[in-house]
Amino acid sequence: MPHQVRAVVAKAKGEPVTVETVTIPDPGPGEVVVDVKACGVCHTDLHYREGAINDEFPFLLGHEAAGIVSEVGEGVTNVEVGDFVILNWRAVCGECRSCLRGRPWYCFATHNATQKMTLDGVELSPALGIGAFAEKTLVAAGQATKVDPEASAEVAGLIGCGVMAGLGAAMNTGNVGRGDSVAVWGCGGVGDAAIEGSRIAGAHTIIAIDLDDTKLEWAKEFGATHTINSSGMSNDEVIEAVRELTNGDGVDVAIEAIGLPQTYEQAFFARDLAGTVVLVGVPNPEMKLELPMIEVFGRGGSLKSSWYGDCLPSRDFPMLIDLYLRGRLNLDKFVSETIAIDEVEDAFHKMEEGGVLRSVVVL
Ligand SMILES: [Zn+2]
Ligand SMILES: [Zn+2]
Repeated sequence: MPHQVRAVVAKAKGEPVTVETVTIPDPGPGEVVVDVKACGVCHTDLHYREGAINDEFPFLLGHEAAGIVSEVGEGVTNVEVGDFVILNWRAVCGECRSCLRGRPWYCFATHNATQKMTLDGVELSPALGIGAFAEKTLVAAGQATKVDPEASAEVAGLIGCGVMAGLGAAMNTGNVGRGDSVAVWGCGGVGDAAIEGSRIAGAHTIIAIDLDDTKLEWAKEFGATHTINSSGMSNDEVIEAVRELTNGDGVDVAIEAIGLPQTYEQAFFARDLAGTVVLVGVPNPEMKLELPMIEVFGRGGSLKSSWYGDCLPSRDFPMLIDLYLRGRLNLDKFVSETIAIDEVEDAFHKMEEGGVLRSVVVL
């Protein structure tokens, strides 16, 4: 029997989101229904509401979630009813050219549920193929990753998007290792997760850069060894400040978690020779980057982008939850507040004001 559940829907571009009763179909082959327990509010949800991702309204928002599998469709083998799972938006296909080359963390053909959830008979577009500001959601089985149920849903859900992006930017894409120096531009949820990831990976110097002293304080709590408040500073001054903290050399790994040409440029020049720049902040389509090509060549190293922290959910989610349960990964600090399902619009405003790392809807 299809279920009627409450869910947060963005009906039209720029309009406040509303709580609606939506229909969740029974799971088809390869699909599962998950009773969502908690779902973090991510910038991407706001971008959907603003029409900045695409025009496929109405959207069923929410994608940073954990819950319990309540129904499984035919042929599902990776999870069972009752499993505690984190939802992911990289259900690897196993068949695309990247998967076949042994690089499933880049999978180019990830799976989503085939059937649609609906509102008054109209098909909903689930955010990032998930749609989890809802009491129940329908996803492809591969989008549900089983983890240790000891972790609370509020913190576990965060691994499903922003925190994974930041941790993975450092641990996977940047390949931060013992004794490395790292600088992180932007100390919101993703940037702080990159700091946390660098700390866990063994970096000895972690420089946090932001315009806001409160965020720099948060960054220290996650493991930043130094902070730079770059408000009023020129690019050259920021680059110089990073060099001064690293014996005049620059950092081994420069992580840009904002998505702006100016801060990318700072990251590019503040890294040591043969260092790595990781772009995990998402730029808008109008932005352009101008760099002297001789510097791109002469500085060597690599310029990388981090898609979803280059994570492989089946490998990374259980490992990160285990680190959390052993007290080695600080996830609790990312949860600024827990809210009800009808408070998502308020949470968007708080996010825009920058006063929270994560508001988490508890269902
Ligand atoms: Zn997200
Ligand atoms: Zn694939």
